[in-house]
Amino acid sequence: MGKNKFIGCEAKFENATIVLFGAPYDATSTYRKGSRFAPSAIRKESSGIETYSPYLYRDLADISIHDAGDLKFPSVDPAPMIYTVEALTTKILDARKFPLMLGGEHLVTLGAFRAVRQKYPDVRIIHFDAHTDLRDDWYWQKLNHSTVIRRCFDLIGKGKIFQFGIRSGERAEFEFAKANTHLCKHDFTSLDTAVKAIGNFPVYFTIDLDILDPSEFGGTGTPEAGGVSFLALLEATKTVFKHLNVVGCDITELSPPHDKNGASTALACKYLREVLLLVDSKK
Ligand code: MN
Ligand code: MN
Repeated sequence: MGKNKFIGCEAKFENATIVLFGAPYDATSTYRKGSRFAPSAIRKESSGIETYSPYLYRDLADISIHDAGDLKFPSVDPAPMIYTVEALTTKILDARKFPLMLGGEHLVTLGAFRAVRQKYPDVRIIHFDAHTDLRDDWYWQKLNHSTVIRRCFDLIGKGKIFQFGIRSGERAEFEFAKANTHLCKHDFTSLDTAVKAIGNFPVYFTIDLDILDPSEFGGTGTPEAGGVSFLALLEATKTVFKHLNVVGCDITELSPPHDKNGASTALACKYLREVLLLVDSKK
């Protein structure tokens, strides 16, 4: 675990309500790799932002967050990575704290979600992404960042996954979604309907930052034109935390090597601050 911490995340594990950790893994990324550098880039960048949010009128200094650093994975194979993420997430949940994971590529979600689902068998998923991530396999590979939501589906079944911002996938993925998930193309139009449908069920919230438009967020492995704005993402994120019982969350797919002017890393950093403050607003 590195010494570098995200700004305002100085609490000890025992005293924290939120535990932040990095999952620096990008071995199954299908197009451009580099997201394994995201957790450390975000922490480093955080020294340049304020702990106060003028959007939420809250300050990181007022809440107790532990930054556990980055996980170390036994190999580049996906299965041991997923196991390692699941073990730490279970430890955090057992201590009655909120797990907030920083990817890494999107496959890291499967480890955290396995732990959450173990604790909350009736959990629902809110999924923000440009991509459906519903492939059954990627060239016979079942564990891949483009199959991650399908693997989550395998664990919880039909009607429990709510997807937003989606604008890319194979025909078969969209057909699968029609029958098995709630998929909102391009934006957050049906978010209020989803909030009503989910009600009091626990929610795992997974955010693939490539939901954003590449004009604001180009530093990602698989950029897709036609995305949402930062402010739209922030509003939708507020809606999710304000109205739903979110029990775990992750932010994935920033790729610092593709962030030529640093703007994407700065955006991810600011977004993480907002998410941390929103998690705490439920306490
Ligand atoms: Mn994804
Ligand atoms: Mn994506």
